[in-house]
Amino acid sequence: MSKKKPRPTPVPAEPIPGLVDAHTHLASCGARTQEEVDAIVGRALAAGVERMCTVGDGLAEAEDALAAAHMHERVFAACAIHPTRALELDDAARVRLTAMAADERCVAVGETGIDTYWLTHDAEGTAPLEVQEEAFRWHIELAVESGKALMIHNREGDAAMLRILDDAPRPEHVILHCFSSPLDVAREAIERGYVLSFAGNVTFKRNEELREAARLAPPGQLLVETDAPYMTPEPFRGARNEPSLIGHTARVLADARGMEVADVAREIGETFSRVYGV
Ligand SMILES: [Zn+2]
Repeated sequence: MSKKKPRPTPVPAEPIPGLVDAHTHLASCGARTQEEVDAIVGRALAAGVERMCTVGDGLAEAEDALAAAHMHERVFAACAIHPTRALELDDAARVRLTAMAADERCVAVGETGIDTYWLTHDAEGTAPLEVQEEAFRWHIELAVESGKALMIHNREGDAAMLRILDDAPRPEHVILHCFSSPLDVAREAIERGYVLSFAGNVTFKRNEELREAARLAPPGQLLVETDAPYMTPEPFRGARNEPSLIGHTARVLADARGMEVADVAREIGETFSRVYGV
């Protein structure tokens, strides 16, 4: 039997005006109704988080995301089928996602991409790689056709992701959500003009390489996100995450870049506006 230390209750960092959360999952945080969305956005606003993009994993969750974006003016949506669930991308899902991407509250097609991690850990429940690739290519085309940003999920799929992006049509904005790849991938992505979005794992002690990647990203190619309810930043790692906690991650990014956190928040806010067209 192991004795676990009780987790501290997470509290937001000191408010940083102009902050944004480029990728969160409001429905998975328990916010689906108007009242619940208002509450979580209210807590975020109190911490300075003025805008956020909420994301779904499957079609039903994408509907939740789009609904939340219609409930609150500070919430925008990203819609797609997650790579591990790519088998769900049937004809009906393609028709619906095409309509969702055309919605003015939908600002990105995502999360889509490549995930080989779950293929080796839960192969039965995970879409095979060739199905993921086909779905990824379909989502890339949807991003190009709809003019929305492409939001990529990549877990242990660096080589495949870079290869597919390289020979597919190029969306105007490509965001690598929860960037967790090695430095050579960061350099290649920056060179290609992609935006690196950092989540709470950039605050973890052992992830010095991610902080180095955050330092390398030029202004305009850096975003910050919670990926809530997952990826809670230090000093609350392991607790449940939500958008109001993003200040802890923003402060680590500011330190990595040798900047004032207010300046990083402004820079990232401008990037949010540009890539999401809001
Ligand atoms: Zn996510």
